[in-house]
Amino acid sequence: MKLNQVKLTKRLYEKLSDAGFETVESLLWHFPYRYDEVSIIPYSDWKIGDKVWLEGVIQEPFKCLRLPKNRTVTRFMFQSNQGLFQVSIFNRPWLKSNMQISLQARYDGNNNLVGLNYNTNSLIDQLGIIPIYSLTKELSNKDFINVMSKVLNYMDECIVNDVPDEYRLKYKLLTLKQSIYQIHKPSNLNAIFLAKRTLKYEEFLRFQTKLQLNRQVNFGQMFGKSKIFDRRIINNWMKYLPFELTIQQKTVLDEILNDLQSKQRMNRLLQGDVGSGKTVIAALAIYATVLSHYQAALLVPTEILAKQHYTSIKSYLPESVRVEVLYSSLSSIQKRNILERLRNNEIDVLIGTHSIIQDDVKFYNCGLVVADEQHRFGVEQRRMLSDKGDKVDFLLMSATPIPRTLAAVLFNDLNISTITSYHSSKKPIETKLIKSNSIKPIYSVLLDRLKNNDQIYFVCPSIEFDENSSVKSVDQIYQALLKGFPKSIRIGMLHGKLSQDEKNTVLDDFLNHKIDCLVTTTVIEVGVNVQSANTMVIYDSDRFGLSQLHQLRGRVGRGSVDGLCFLLTDSEDELSLKRLEVLENSQDGFEIANKDLELRGPGEIFGLKQSGIPSFLIANVVLDQAILVTAQKDSIEILNKQLHFKDWINYCLKDLENQRMD
Ligand code: ADP
Ligand code: MG
Repeated sequence: MKLNQVKLTKRLYEKLSDAGFETVESLLWHFPYRYDEVSIIPYSDWKIGDKVWLEGVIQEPFKCLRLPKNRTVTRFMFQSNQGLFQVSIFNRPWLKSNMQISLQARYDGNNNLVGLNYNTNSLIDQLGIIPIYSLTKELSNKDFINVMSKVLNYMDECIVNDVPDEYRLKYKLLTLKQSIYQIHKPSNLNAIFLAKRTLKYEEFLRFQTKLQLNRQVNFGQMFGKSKIFDRRIINNWMKYLPFELTIQQKTVLDEILNDLQSKQRMNRLLQGDVGSGKTVIAALAIYATVLSHYQAALLVPTEILAKQHYTSIKSYLPESVRVEVLYSSLSSIQKRNILERLRNNEIDVLIGTHSIIQDDVKFYNCGLVVADEQHRFGVEQRRMLSDKGDKVDFLLMSATPIPRTLAAVLFNDLNISTITSYHSSKKPIETKLIKSNSIKPIYSVLLDRLKNNDQIYFVCPSIEFDENSSVKSVDQIYQALLKGFPKSIRIGMLHGKLSQDEKNTVLDDFLNHKIDCLVTTTVIEVGVNVQSANTMVIYDSDRFGLSQLHQLRGRVGRGSVDGLCFLLTDSEDELSLKRLEVLENSQDGFEIANKDLELRGPGEIFGLKQSGIPSFLIANVVLDQAILVTAQKDSIEILNKQLHFKDWINYCLKDLENQRMD
């Protein structure tokens, strides 16, 4: 429903539109992030530290003192409905004695109060719970509350769906309309609690129902083709690998080989921290597939990674296995040659980027698809891949681990294998938070590292300088380093706008230590493996997700020298700084991912649109896990009785369509 159907002043329309509110729905679903409660608590119930409201008259003795930095403190006696108090209030130099005010204050014991807020309205008129919204500077909370009280009258037109009655009654939830109303105009604290619980449940139920629907459409039946191979050959081959698998790697491999042998179609997620050794597992799964006379595909997000995997996968496999790599910058003759051999079963393993997904890539008999960094591939791409063969098995690999219970609910069609412990060649990366967005404080450390033959990554959030943004760009930092470092230091830059040839040249130069410093974007996040680069500097680190930063720093400390990572930021936001401190103190990808999930939700982490996981409006997948699990159970029930729940199913289908169109 368009907003212009609601009667508002022109000024308000403009402000709302500037803030991005175009429809009544967008307002209804913009929830307060907290509430202030205005109530009268009798003095006898006050405890030290309590925030209280009282009403009265400012009296003598009255004094206003100037403090440094343009601050003031006003002290006065306050004759109020709760008795006589000594009040101090900061930065309100305009207060005068004899004024009648309503005051919010912190009780500090005896008769002392520290004023927090005041106004000149009568307290009785303000009693209640006030929703506090996150808004643009131009739009005041008061304005917004006014708008909401008008908009709430249009709920009947805008909210036509609801949680199915069965579940609403079972869990004693409110209706959706009641919830929306109570969220914006609460009658009491308990009503807010109930409203939130309802909205969270609704959000999760909708999500889970969509997930189930999606699964029905995309994957159909789960029968696959069992692979027939001799495990002894694989066990024997493992002796020739350059290292022994850890116990966890062996366990995970067993799970995967069991899947391959079973009649069920494999749909497994292998998760493990950066550098935990997933590639060799993939190679052995591929080997088993090839032994059973099927081909395998390995899908990776970037061309750089495709080439690296080509080298490492080959090194993990016997020479008899024929491995090829396909990428866009190959000549068309080379490409045609590969495609033809692939069709004729003269290639066993094809490694490549999404170019593998294209129509003209036809396998002779693809039996296994491995997707590395799976969260970068959309549901749609995965479906197209599964069409590459008859009932192919799927192995998805991810370095962004999520807790097992959560993963099972979020991707309920996946089995999960996890590598948590490290093989001994992996070292922690020392990480330091620098509260400045420049390398000045660490300049000498960096220079020392360079003198000791180290190489440094400089990671920036953006490629080009943008005058509307304070974020550091590759261009800008490249120029700054050229000026700042001695002439002898060789500096290069790498980002997504370079041609593939240019990228390869720069990366090769860095790999061969013809470049000392590489200024880059997050293109290096996955897979770049330069053993002699052991230092990383990340600008505007508050702009990145924690798991992403953890992956980024995983690039260093792969060689013999200890890895060192500096997180630069000039953010003063307490929460941001706290998040970054998690990285200083933890090397555990699971712990880090968990924190990230708690703070930002899964959509952000897994790449919102691609993953098919929405970021939830009010529910939190970590804190509200119990509701999530319940909603999952209920959604399965709903899908089993589709006719009975057809309104709800239609609503979810519509939601699913909208999501696809975005
Ligand atoms: P990721 O899980 O990030 O894909 P990789 O498979 O690239 O990790 O492994 C990182 C490094 O660890 C590689 O150089 C690999 O050779 C090495 N590695 C893997 N497993 C072991 C092991 N069991 N013992 C020693 N080194 C190992
Ligand atoms: Mg990897």
